[in-house]
Amino acid sequence: MFPLSALHSPTLIYAALAVALPMGALAIASGRALPDLPGPRHWAAAAVCVSGALVLYITAGASPTWSMAADVLAVVSLILMREGLAGAAPASRGRMLVTVALLAVFVAIHLWFGQVEPRPERRAAVASAGMALAALSIVWELCRPAGRPAGLVMVAGVMFVGMALGLGYRAVEMALGGPRPVEAMVLGPEAAIPLLFVIAAQVGGGAAFCGFAGLQVIQRLRTTQALLERAVREDGLTGLASRRAILEVLRTEISAARRQGHSLGLLVLDIDQFKRINDVCGHVVGDAVLAAFGSCLAGNIRAADRAGRLGGEEFAVVMPGASLADAERVSERVRLALGGIAVPGLIDPIAASIGVAILGTADHAEVTLLARADRAMYQAKRAGGNQVAVDEA
Ligand code: GH3
Ligand code: MG
Ligand code: MG
Repeated sequence: MFPLSALHSPTLIYAALAVALPMGALAIASGRALPDLPGPRHWAAAAVCVSGALVLYITAGASPTWSMAADVLAVVSLILMREGLAGAAPASRGRMLVTVALLAVFVAIHLWFGQVEPRPERRAAVASAGMALAALSIVWELCRPAGRPAGLVMVAGVMFVGMALGLGYRAVEMALGGPRPVEAMVLGPEAAIPLLFVIAAQVGGGAAFCGFAGLQVIQRLRTTQALLERAVREDGLTGLASRRAILEVLRTEISAARRQGHSLGLLVLDIDQFKRINDVCGHVVGDAVLAAFGSCLAGNIRAADRAGRLGGEEFAVVMPGASLADAERVSERVRLALGGIAVPGLIDPIAASIGVAILGTADHAEVTLLARADRAMYQAKRAGGNQVAVDEA
């Protein structure tokens, strides 16, 4: 078997750098392309930190100060990866305080074994333990939010658990083993495994970040799409179906009525003298009247019926299965209910002209039925308004 001890650690450092630098550049480019996503920015900062750490590992030599700086940068890069994974969820104060406190302890122990009681192997043990802990906190962050794809979480999780185990093992090995020469710490063969994990963290972490960032983008698009769909299908003022939606319902229900051989009623309602309400009471009252009209309409039809706003002060109700008698009865009920609408600032009661049409064999498209109900509505309006008229065709 190829022994791990044969791996050349300085080469692995350059390899890690060769991975970290393009990953960082990719993250910066992603951050610029998706400025409102927090993940890529953290990931870019993590890549910068890990690159700095790797350069320092190559150049630090026996200097405990620079070695400490390299270890701190490596731990900070993992913390940044974790924060990037947290995504849009802002870092809680408590979590940041714990992180900063642990980092301070890490630096203090590092300083102790660097300056006060120089023990390079203990320093390496502290560094490995710190990185193992940071890797475990990434696993925790990976598993915390619900709704992430299990496969992505599992692959990234296994990689960071492996990293934590490998580094934990190195921490124990360094802490329990005897003194070692400082050069062996990072550039010696023992460093090969941690360095392999650094490379794996860059590649695997980068892939996981891309996956999660893509997921965030898709989730945002879905939310926006749902909002847009709602805006298109729902009238903003009354909450009833929009013109587009109610005409779609009419088309669908006409097909269903023809297929199943049942009847279909359509009401077209137009508020009488609405312009006068606007002129006398103001547009705010006019809007409130439209909203109240919508609620009144919705409250006076069956669950199977659908009401919509055709535009302005014109409304429609699609009544699947309704006979002419049903449609007339509902129209009369609605007409009476409309008269009882109370809106602050409204002087006279509201009245509406209502046209009724029942689907006939000659109604080839929804526009024909709509035109007939509309004609009946104008008939009611011409007869003085505040009444129901039926298109008998
Ligand atoms: P008729 O009895 O013949 O139906 O007369 P009317 O005044 O009801 O009808 P007309 O078509 O003359 O006026 C409709 C008014 O409805 C004109 C328009 O400014 C107003 N309107 C349309 N949409 C809105 C809206 O969303 N809010 C308010 N406040 N007014 C609207
Ligand atoms: Mg009108
Ligand atoms: Mg009107």
